[in-house]
Amino acid sequence: MHEASLVSSLAENLLELKRREGGRRIVRFKVEIGELSGVDPEAFRLAYEVLRESLEDLRETEMELSLVPARFQCGNCGQSFSGDYLAECPGCRSLEKIVLSGEELTLREVELEV
Ligand SMILES: [Zn+2]
Repeated sequence: MHEASLVSSLAENLLELKRREGGRRIVRFKVEIGELSGVDPEAFRLAYEVLRESLEDLRETEMELSLVPARFQCGNCGQSFSGDYLAECPGCRSLEKIVLSGEELTLREVELEV
């Protein structure tokens, strides 16, 4: 399971942060999951629930997930739009585009109790 390894590296980052900042406890943290990241939010949450049972440091830590929608910008006319990698520009039908958001898996807003 892809999500399990993502969650365990996330946990390592969190514990490293806690060590560095000298916090007593991690109260909560937020993870942004992009629609295009290939991460299944439910599987991710489940993997976290499993992991925290085995990690004393995270047992009372809340995880908040927020989903980031996929946004593209047309490489031809510059219009921005949502969709997936196969979407064409609604303005000019071009398939050329750059990803503005939706590929991220980002740890944010870690709240430490000191
Ligand atoms: Zn276009």
